[in-house]
Amino acid sequence: MATEWGFVEQRDGGYAYTEPMLGVLDLIRRALSRLHGVPHRTVVAPPVIASSIIARTSYPACFPQLLAAVSTLNDPSLVGDAMSYSKDAAAAWRAGLAPSRWVLQPAACYSVYALLADSRLNEPYECDVTGWCFRNESTSNATRLSSFEMREFVHVGTADSCAGFVDFWRAEITSFLSELELLPRVVPAADPFFGRGALLLARSQLQSASKVEFVVEAESGPLAVASLNSHGNALTEQFNIHCGDNATASACMAFGLHRLARSLLWVHGEDVNSWPNSILPTIGL
Ligand SMILES: [Zn+2]
Repeated sequence: MATEWGFVEQRDGGYAYTEPMLGVLDLIRRALSRLHGVPHRTVVAPPVIASSIIARTSYPACFPQLLAAVSTLNDPSLVGDAMSYSKDAAAAWRAGLAPSRWVLQPAACYSVYALLADSRLNEPYECDVTGWCFRNESTSNATRLSSFEMREFVHVGTADSCAGFVDFWRAEITSFLSELELLPRVVPAADPFFGRGALLLARSQLQSASKVEFVVEAESGPLAVASLNSHGNALTEQFNIHCGDNATASACMAFGLHRLARSLLWVHGEDVNSWPNSILPTIGL
């Protein structure tokens, strides 16, 4: 069993977690909850989501390589019954799998847009959403996990209220990561769009700075631990969400909790009790 900082590598590129990782993840969850301005409303997004929800977004067109669907056995009689379990039955199970109505959630905020779908808000809506996400990454290592816990602060309102949200969290998270002595840099993001338009979409994302990432140093080089995303009216249109009589827009502040924990362990060491005094008030020790 290979372990490193509490990452326990399983077969075929999956990971389980133990100490010190679990303790640091818990510290981060509580530190984020203490930040000034955290939305009071909390939502837990389950790890599977209806494919009809994801089909309302541009995710399947932009990132089909990362999306994973859940398959189920449509005809259970193919494998016999529990009393006649055999290797043949296991092979029949695999051969009989067919797409179900579920996909693995690629980002926690989609559950929030689904929650608000086809509605009119009287005022901007904010929430603090957590969920396990999955992306079908071509390589799975401890810094590019296929399965990870994502926390997001989501804002749905007007273009102006979204701009205020983005400015606020950009400053707030820069100082949070600086207080943790992770030396953050805020850089425009270029997502791995799929297909012929990939370069064009990535360039337009860079130019518009619609997504920025908070990058810190880790053992394998710069690591994005959080991102701030301005969706404009794309998601509110796709989900038919209105805010009063104004044009509606949305934005989210997202954290990859495992990456944040990993960078803390790399910078400050795996013995939490010997972390520098200067970061203790922020991390809550
Ligand atoms: Zn989001």
